[in-house]
Amino acid sequence: PTLRPRPDAEVVVDLGAVRHNVRRLRELVWGDRPADERGQVMVVVKADAYGHGLVPVARAARQAGAEWLGAATPAEALALREAGDAGRLLCWLAAPGHDFAPLVSADVDVTAYSVAQLEEVVRGARVAGRPARLQLKLDTGLSRGGAARDDWLALVTAARHAQDDGDVRVTGVWSHLACADEPGHPANAAQLAAFEDGLALVADAGLEPEVRHLANSAGALWHPGARHDLVRLGIASYGVSPAPEVATSDELGLVPAMTVRGRLVMVKELAEGDGVSYGHTWTAPAPTRVGLVPMGYGDGVPRHGSSRAELLVAGVRRPVLGRICMDQLVVEAAGAEAGDEVLLLGPGSAGEPTAADWAAWCDTIGYEVVTRMGGRQVRSWV
Ligand code: PLP
Repeated sequence: PTLRPRPDAEVVVDLGAVRHNVRRLRELVWGDRPADERGQVMVVVKADAYGHGLVPVARAARQAGAEWLGAATPAEALALREAGDAGRLLCWLAAPGHDFAPLVSADVDVTAYSVAQLEEVVRGARVAGRPARLQLKLDTGLSRGGAARDDWLALVTAARHAQDDGDVRVTGVWSHLACADEPGHPANAAQLAAFEDGLALVADAGLEPEVRHLANSAGALWHPGARHDLVRLGIASYGVSPAPEVATSDELGLVPAMTVRGRLVMVKELAEGDGVSYGHTWTAPAPTRVGLVPMGYGDGVPRHGSSRAELLVAGVRRPVLGRICMDQLVVEAAGAEAGDEVLLLGPGSAGEPTAADWAAWCDTIGYEVVTRMGGRQVRSWV
């Protein structure tokens, strides 16, 4: 069922911040090169744009000049086309047996990880009656998707034949970094070198892809050698630093785009010794006024924030008391009243916690914090 809006629990996405971040990142990544030597920008909008809303974010990214959008699944890519996006668009996560024809017809760049998958792309191109735009993904050390090194030559050779047959046009070659958020990690140099080997194989096969790309946000920011022709910017586009311990979003000049806010449903006075929430993991050490926030892990608020996280309630930072529940949580509320504003997450400008704060409290990453928000709250875009 379609649920009605809940004005007491909402996610507000600042599309102006997304546009600012995309422009700012282009400047940070390509700004020191002469205009004709600058590379391109892909904004990665998978997972509902990291919880920020696929279609609104895609539009904002295009307005800010993103030449490319990146989606994980075919469903995400096709949703963008159905919403009217007509720019370059790459997707990379199709299961065996996938029918590539709709993607080829929709002019989406598709990715092959293996010869078997390349054959499926070829079948899709024949059904669609046009060559597929094909990108080859080489695993250079993440050990996740992409062709294993021993299979690179077979994949590149098969792609060359498929291009000669007119079934595909090889538009790109790419890989993904494992440790870009740890600039000193030796895996970075090893992956850069492996990617060069892969590019040499591609060149030896006589293929001339338009784009070679390796860098996510952290790669783009902190590994100039990984930038190649195109950087794939996910988390930084949303104003969240990929590694706040390396540089905070403030230091990078980025603006977090997501705000999660609500209202106190009620307040009450607890006596000394009263236990709060399931398990009574927090007990009032003295008479305490508490407030009820109508959001919990069912809304994406990490349960690991129980008794660790803080919220801004009526303009004051206050601790979460006891366990975060599915729909609600309890917060310290001295001087606050039912109906007062709660800021659970935001850019931090009013003193509210950021995604980076939540990540630190919950032993996770800002990516997970923002991506899980917005399933249940009302979302709006400003
Ligand atoms: N490229 C690929 C293949 C990805 O899966 C992702 C997301 O993890 C990105 C780029 C963007 O990464 P980030 O959000 O760290 O910029």
